[in-house]
Formats: sequence, structure tokens, C-alpha cells
Amino acid sequence: MIQDIAPHQFDNAFYPVAPDRDSIALCYESKACLVKKSGEEFVFPKFGDLENENEEIYKNYTFLFRIDEERYYLVTNASYGHLKDYNMEDISYFRIAEPQYRAFAGITGHQLYCWYKSHRYCGACGSPMKPDSKERMMYCEKCHSMEYPKICPAVIIGVTDGNRILLSKYAGRTYKKYALLAGYTEIGETLEETVAREVMEEVGLKVRNIRYYKSQPWAFSGTILMGFYCDLEGSDKIRLDQEELALAEWFEREEIPVEPSRDSLTNEMIMQFKNGRI
Ligand SMILES: [Zn+2]
Repeated sequence: MIQDIAPHQFDNAFYPVAPDRDSIALCYESKACLVKKSGEEFVFPKFGDLENENEEIYKNYTFLFRIDEERYYLVTNASYGHLKDYNMEDISYFRIAEPQYRAFAGITGHQLYCWYKSHRYCGACGSPMKPDSKERMMYCEKCHSMEYPKICPAVIIGVTDGNRILLSKYAGRTYKKYALLAGYTEIGETLEETVAREVMEEVGLKVRNIRYYKSQPWAFSGTILMGFYCDLEGSDKIRLDQEELALAEWFEREEIPVEPSRDSLTNEMIMQFKNGRI
């Protein structure tokens, strides 16, 4: 999966020391990130690449995380028009971009960029928020509100029935491949209740024997995904929620039309079933 970057090590401990010339500068605009493609791989700019055109760049920094010994910072309002061969690339590029650890840095940085961007003002009183110096938190000096990064829990659901698994396609999204059922956890429910509710809402089926598989940070939607398998209980007749899904179908293990890809928990769960490991 996209977060599996060994032997590299992602370290998100808050370590807000000043950047130096070799520190990585993550520059985003909406859903795009500044990268330079070279051959099969890509790189991010370093502070040394930006310092001449951006005098203040070392003063107002936002530390994000480290990978191995490399420090990554969020850089906003910098001018980078002078950088040769760098382009703003849609973050979906990181699903397949190499090297994988750098792609993971790109999406994780984007999730933090979105969080910082949407917490410039206090949600309680509307005053400007300030970054705390000791932990990753935004603080309101007026009403003392503290905002920590928000992560939305969601479930990925492999509904199985003997040798069959239920695959679906989303309605109205750019992602057109077969997927598993999925949904966000609502306030007041357990993850297992989310699984049962989403299956009933999306396809009108009952399930039992709900069991946890694995989790994955999924920065594309600001989510922590938790994968569950469960067994069909009773009728297999699908009643489709057409607002959410374009289709849902049962597939025999041997006929699953999905190939391995490195990015998602969904893909891994489908492939585990296809290969007889579930
Ligand atoms: Zn406030």
C-alpha cells in the first residue's frame, strides 16, 4: 500500500526546527503539488532552490514531518516561477509516482496543507489562529480554542458469500474501477455498526461475522481507512443506492476483474480474496 515505504521511515513527531538548504519544500496549490519529473522518478524542490527568490523563506516555516533524516516543510506564498522543469502536478499522480516514499510524503503533506489552510481562523470566535510551538496544534489567543488535526474514520468492506465477493463502482466520481463498499463512521456508532449500516444503505444486504483486517491512512480524502471482511446473512438480492453506487455485483473468486496495484487497501483486500487468502 502507498504508506508501505520500508526501508524508509516516516516520522511524524513534531520537531519544528528551522529548515536548512537541504530541507524539502512542499508547495501546493489546491489539489496540485510542485514537482520535477526526471526519468522514471520525481523530486520536490529544496529550500536551497527557493532561497534566492524568497528572502523570508527561512523565517516563517511550517514543519511537517521527516522521512529518514530528511525534513519536509510546508511552503506557502513562495515564488517558484524561476525553477526550471518544475510543474504543478495533480496529487493523483502520487498514486503511481516513484519513488514511493516521496509520493507518500506528497499526499501526506497535502493532507496537512488542507488542514492548515482550513484552520487559519477560529471556528468558535472567528479570530485568526496561531500555530503552537510545541505540538501540531492551532491556537486561538482570544477564546483559547485549540485545534488538532482532524482525521475522519471510514471503513472499507469486503462482503463475502462463500466463494463470492461483492464489488461495486461509485456513481458520479472520476474513479471508475471496481471497489469495495465504503463509508464514513458517524458520530455515536462503532466501526462494526458502520459496516452493517453502510452495507444495508448501499446494497440492502444483511451481514454477520464482521472482522477487522487492516488500516491505511488515506490522505486523498483526509481519512483513516479501516478494512473489514464480513459474511452475507440471508438474501443475496442487491437493492442499489443509486446516489452512491453505479453498480454492485457478486463475483466468483476466479472471475474477479481486478489486478494488483500498489496504492490502496481496497485493492489489497480484493486481491487477498482473489488469491484465496481470505
Ligand atoms: Zn477563538
